[in-house]
This record gives sequence, structure tokens and C-alpha cells, in this order.
Amino acid sequence: AGRRKKVADVIEELEQTLATPTPLLRGIADAMVEEMERGLRADPHAPLKMLISYVDNLPTGDEHGLFYALDLGGTNFRVLRVQLGGKEKRAVQQYEEVPIPPHLMVGTSTELFDFIAAELERFVETEGDDFHLPEGRHRELGFTFSFPVHQTSISSGTLVKWTKGFCINGTVGEDVVAELSSAMERQGLDMKVTALVNDTVGTLAGGIYADNDVVAAVILGTGTNAAYVEHVDAIPKWKGPLPRSGNMVINMEWGNFKSDKLPRSDYDIALDFESLNPGEQMYEKMISGMYLGEVVRRILLRLAHDASLFGDVVPSKLEKLFVLRTPDMSAMHHDTSHDLKHLGAKLKDILGVADTSMEARYITLHVCDKVAERGARLAAAGIYGILKKLGRDRAPSGGCPKQRTVVAIDGGLYEHYKKFSSRVEATLAELLGEAAASSVVVKMANDGSGIGAALLAASHSQYN
Ligand code: ADP
Ligand code: MG
Repeated sequence: AGRRKKVADVIEELEQTLATPTPLLRGIADAMVEEMERGLRADPHAPLKMLISYVDNLPTGDEHGLFYALDLGGTNFRVLRVQLGGKEKRAVQQYEEVPIPPHLMVGTSTELFDFIAAELERFVETEGDDFHLPEGRHRELGFTFSFPVHQTSISSGTLVKWTKGFCINGTVGEDVVAELSSAMERQGLDMKVTALVNDTVGTLAGGIYADNDVVAAVILGTGTNAAYVEHVDAIPKWKGPLPRSGNMVINMEWGNFKSDKLPRSDYDIALDFESLNPGEQMYEKMISGMYLGEVVRRILLRLAHDASLFGDVVPSKLEKLFVLRTPDMSAMHHDTSHDLKHLGAKLKDILGVADTSMEARYITLHVCDKVAERGARLAAAGIYGILKKLGRDRAPSGGCPKQRTVVAIDGGLYEHYKKFSSRVEATLAELLGEAAASSVVVKMANDGSGIGAALLAASHSQYN
């Protein structure tokens, strides 16, 4: 009975520290708006970099020609070729996805880019007759790079820092396009990078190509981030020429958002402290696929220690950082069997505990639920913040009663974790209220970032 009480105590405390009541989320959305403004002023202490993308024109649908794209994410990288056929024929695409070997995430820059260039070269070799490169032209590439980059033009930029699981010495401050281009040269691959885009910016471009009303893109994958279309007037730090569109796409790098209002627990503090980037990406560490399972693991470990949740001995595997991956968490969370047998099987697989009690299974399910709920609700608060910044948080009225607002979302977490994505949507609707929610649509933009990068490569082609 004493043990049961301990479990109940830990759970009660957990529910309190992870709680995200709606008024708190409203406060977080307001803090997000304030931080967006600080970043746009280039306040040196602003956690949000609000990076200028140099994308001031989004795809129109008229793009033509053969283009390649390369998407370097946190877990996979993708190579893509697209034959763009204008408004009539739209786009025909082929792609391949390659997992990034873990040793390359913490190796040298040269090794990483050589690997990428070699895979790209292999992919180019498979170009079939459906794809046409006009005589005498070089192939052109849009490079989607899902890390913070200080862009110096549409096709160049220096790495601000690595995030997610990456930690490669000597790349910070270097031009990532130059690194990729020299690797392609070493590989003997004749291809020119004409656009360097963040995955959020690529998703936004791909999203607008598919639906004109897209105003923002959000990534919920290994990491999390967002981009949106801002009026140049609202970007005090932009000193360049006034774009004809009057707009500039901003890559928020929102994973680094921080605020006293964020519900941080001891588990989050310890996770951060032991991470590759302590003190950074606080918001990302509460929301994204790289970390959700790890938060759950830390809570289960505490329950195993303090309340013998998995029996008298603490399963030693449970002590291992990152053993509990978010896809496993998601699989456990979606178990609807009456005896939670799938969840039990996962626990056996991952922790090596042969027989888990029904109590242990239910508690595990509950922990997954609370951690996913917090992440999803915090993500929704961020999206609501962007909509507030854009003045799209109210029901359309007066001049444009039919105005639609679409947010494109991509990323493996959102795509595969239903209980997570449905909560993002429900919370956003709750924050917007019924009237405003009826004009806001959240759309899954499956691999919009690849197509988006190819479209941006096309609109910035040297042959235009
Ligand atoms: P990246 O963020 O590396 O560009 P993705 O968008 O494909 O790549 O997202 C991959 C991430 O999505 C994984 O790291 C994982 O955290 C998460 N993920 C993948 N599958 C699932 C799943 N079934 N349930 C929950 N999360 C998942
Ligand atoms: Mg990605």
C-alpha cells in the first residue's frame, strides 16, 4: 500500500508540473509574439533568431524544368527530383530516403558532406526518360538544411549552431553551400545549388504551391520549428532593398523559444543538463520527437526508483539515455487492447522486463499521455502565437469574410503520432474559439519541404 501511495504521489506531482491550462497557453502565445518582435529587431538577447530567408517571392505555379532537392533533417536525408510543368502539368517527382548513419552526426563536416554527395550522385545516375534537362545546362539543386543558418543570400549561409543529435566540430560559421559544393566537386557531380532553404521555408513554399492560403509552416519531427510570411515593414532589422512583394519569409527557429511560463519539470531540467546543447532549444526539448520518449523514460525511471513500478529492481536498461524512442512511446500510447498487451510487449523489448503488472502498464500509458499532451498543447500555443502576430486569430469580418488561413505542418512526429497531432488541432481550435477556428485549417504537408526547395531552386535558377 505504501508503494501504491508513492506511485500516486509521483503521478500527482507530475500532473501538476506538466499541466498546461488554457490561460497558461494564452500567456505562452503572447510571450511567443513578444519574442518574435524582439527577434525581428535583432535584440542580441532574443532567444528567437527570426532568420531572414531571402525568400521574398513564393511559388506561383508557373515554375518549369527539372530540379533536384536535398533535404538534410535530423534523422533522415532525402534526395528528390522534380519535373515542374507549370500550372497545367504541375510536378512529377521521385525521391529516395536514406537514414543518416549516426557516426556521421558527430564526425567531421567533410565526412558528412562526402556521404551526402555520394548518395546524391547515385540518385542522379538513376534519372530516367521522364525527366528532361535542356542541352548544355547544369543540373540545379535546392538544398533544404534543417538547422539554423544565417543566410547571406538565397544560395549561401553560415551555420549558426547544430541542434538535435548533431555535433560536428568546425562547421559552425562555415558556409554550408560551399561545403556541399566542394563535396559534390570531389564526387565529380556537376550540380549547382541555387537555393538554400530551411525545412520550414521549404514546407511553406511547397504548401503555398499546393494551397494559396498557406501563411505559415510548422515542423514537428525530430526537432521543431516554424516559418511564416512577414511584412517587410515589421522587420526592423531588414536593411536590404525593399522586395517588390513587400514580404519576407522568416525562419523563426522557434525550437529555442524560452519563457518563464513554460511548464518545466525536474525531468526537463535534467534532460537539458545532460543534452548535447544545454541551455538551448528549451521549447524543442518539451515538444519534439527527439525528446518526448526521453522525458517519458526519465519519469518511468523515477517511478521505478521511488515506487518500484517495475518490481524490486530498477531495470538497468531504463537507465540508458534515449533508449525509449518517441515512435515506441507512440506505439505504447496507441495500444487499445484491454490488457495493454502491445504496451507490455514494448516494455519487455525496451526495458527487458518480462512481466509488467497491469498497474505498471496503465501508469506507463498515463505518463505517455501526459507528456504527449503537454508537447501538443505547447506546440498549439506557438501556432496560435504566429496567428496572433499575423492578425489571423480572429474571425474574418468586414472586407474579406471568406478569408482562409492555412498552416502547413510536416514532420514524422505529426504525421505518425495521431494522439499528438489530434491534440495539436483540438488545442488550436480551443485557443482560437469557434468563430475564428472555422476559417483556420491545419494541413499535413507531406514532404512539402522537398518540393518547396525544388520550386525555390527553379525560381532562383541561373537560367531565368
Ligand atoms: P527529420 O525531423 O529528421 O527531418 P522526420 O520529419 O521524418 O525527420 O521526423 C522523424 C522523427 O519523427 C523521428 O525522429 C521521430 O521522433 C518521429 N517519429 C517518427 N515516427 C514516429 C511515430 N510512429 N510516432 C511518433 N513519432 C515518430
Ligand atoms: Mg525534415
